[in-house]
Amino acid sequence: MKSRRTTLKALAAGLTLGFALGTPVANAQDKGTVGVAMPTKSSTRWISDGNSMVAALAAKGYKTDLQYADDDIPNQLAQIENMITKGVKVLVIAAIDGSTLSNALQKAADKGVKVVAYDRLIVGSKNVDYYATFDNFQVGVLQAQSLEKALGLKEGKGPFNIELFGGSADDNNAFFFYDGAMSVLQPYIDKGKLVVQSKQLGMNKVSTLRWDGAVAQSRMDNLLSAYYGKARVHAVLSPYDGLSIGILSSLKGVGYGSAGQPYPFVSGQDAEVPSVKSIIRKEQYSTVFKDTRELAKVTANMVDAMMSGKTVEINDTKTYNNKVKIVPSYLLKPVSVDLSNYKPVLVGSGYIKEEQLK
Ligand code: BGC
Repeated sequence: MKSRRTTLKALAAGLTLGFALGTPVANAQDKGTVGVAMPTKSSTRWISDGNSMVAALAAKGYKTDLQYADDDIPNQLAQIENMITKGVKVLVIAAIDGSTLSNALQKAADKGVKVVAYDRLIVGSKNVDYYATFDNFQVGVLQAQSLEKALGLKEGKGPFNIELFGGSADDNNAFFFYDGAMSVLQPYIDKGKLVVQSKQLGMNKVSTLRWDGAVAQSRMDNLLSAYYGKARVHAVLSPYDGLSIGILSSLKGVGYGSAGQPYPFVSGQDAEVPSVKSIIRKEQYSTVFKDTRELAKVTANMVDAMMSGKTVEINDTKTYNNKVKIVPSYLLKPVSVDLSNYKPVLVGSGYIKEEQLK
């Protein structure tokens, strides 16, 4: 009997220990809960972001309430309101639509909840304390420079046909990516070295709602059938890997991807596994790597500094005007990736495992 009780006690202790190990805050100071609102699980980058945020905050003694909203705006709003009701200390938000959160953020501010805009700027609200992101203009510059290099534009080659794709118009980043890219491409368009056969230029013509690959694919289908009967498309500016995959499958559908009709050079962003594999197969030309592990670390540091009354580290106080205020920001550096450097940059840094690329 006694020994049975001892065994039960030991078991209970083991369970408690297991629970404590599974919840890292149990043995650190409990600094409260941070609500982490992510847009979607349909893209692996946001899954990495969520996991890294949980780990980075746990390491600093915070619990997390991590939610994904299936790219549904009311869903994300409800999740954020719920976090506020449950008493989170800080909200870390990667918004689906950066302009729809003002009322919820006012409620947050009334309760003293701090807010960090994560990767995507939250616009139209004064209740955004900090912004952690990458240099989004530079992302666009890198995308365009990779096409410039592939086509040999600097060496005076051309003219080439190019089509342009933008991201979702409710995401502030999409405009930075487009403007960054056009800062490189527009001079070639002006000189006639790049020709947009469709004449579709500007975010009002080229944006892709919700960053949806299927939307990009069907727009590419339309462009190919309306403007490329005889002409070939030589390059496609794509701002995100999920769109690049859709664009490439549209191209394949009309015969690109053969020796006689090679794929155009297609850019991308996020270094997602399907696109890195596509780069290895010489289909997609490039992507832009943004180390989400670093973004999570920077964000966790911001959260902890705010909570402990320390100075929050920022490196930009000019760029991100959210229409109400300039949000103090920390910008990380994006890195251009193609066949020549994916191994050291992505595999070497441990962001992607070699096996994932087989
Ligand atoms: C992010 C990109 C991502 C895109 C689509 C943007 O806000 O900055 O990294 O490709 O959303 O998810």
